[in-house]
Order: sequence, then structure tokens, then C-alpha cells
Amino acid sequence: MTGVIRLNEQQFKKIQAAAEADYPAECCGLLVGLIEAGNYMVTRVVPSLNIKAEQAKDRFEIDPQTHIDLERELRGASDQIIGHYHSHPDHPPNPSETDLKMAYGPALIWLIASVNDGKFADLKAHQINETTQQFEEITLSITSA
Ligand SMILES: [Zn+2]
Repeated sequence: MTGVIRLNEQQFKKIQAAAEADYPAECCGLLVGLIEAGNYMVTRVVPSLNIKAEQAKDRFEIDPQTHIDLERELRGASDQIIGHYHSHPDHPPNPSETDLKMAYGPALIWLIASVNDGKFADLKAHQINETTQQFEEITLSITSA
């Protein structure tokens, strides 16, 4: 049984815009949020530089400095880093083999945006199932707030 991830319209649009702006490269960033009863509520979308610049067409890696700065900033706060997002230029919003290899720990939410011909197409949320060690889609809910 997995939870639901809630994203407001503004955050959704921010990811959508980043995915289109960085096309044909992959965009990426971190998700800050609250975890309540197994459900995730995103409170902030923090864009990052994709440091896999030379392979950015089908790879991404969040800038470790962005990660460190954010963790420092969140120290003592009630929200925390709950996951990250990246885009799949001209590919479906499902985790790739590479994504699975990069997945570390079941706690993180993976949001993937697909962009076709430079236009945002779809956004899906996944999480690693601890038992099967495979990605599992989780329900994404876009709220108007
Ligand atoms: Zn991917």
C-alpha cells in the first residue's frame, strides 16, 4: 500500500516549464515536502543544474551543492527533501534502467515529466518498492492552491 503525492498547480507548472525549457536535455530538481500518514505533500520545488551536461539528453544528476545547501536550509524545519524530479525528452514518464540503477533507498519520490517535441506531455510519480526493488507508480494528485 503506497501513499499519494500532492502537488499544487503552481508547482506542477514549474516542473512543466523546466522540462520544456531544458528540452532536448533533461531537467532536474529536488522536491521538499511533508510526509503525513504515508502521504506526501510537496511544499517546494527546487530546480537544480543537471551536472551530467555532456549526457543530458538521457541522463541527469542533481548538483550536490544544491542538495547540501537545501539540507542545511531545512535543518530544524518540519518539511524535508522527499524526492526529486527529472524529465524524459521524447520518452514516456516511466523510470528507465538507468533510473533504477541510480535509485538509492525506497523513501524517495521520483517524479518524471515526459516532453515530446519540446512540449510537456505527462507527469508521473514513482517510488521503489522495498520488497521487489522495482519502481512502483504512485498516485499523483494536482491540487488547485
Ligand atoms: Zn529518467
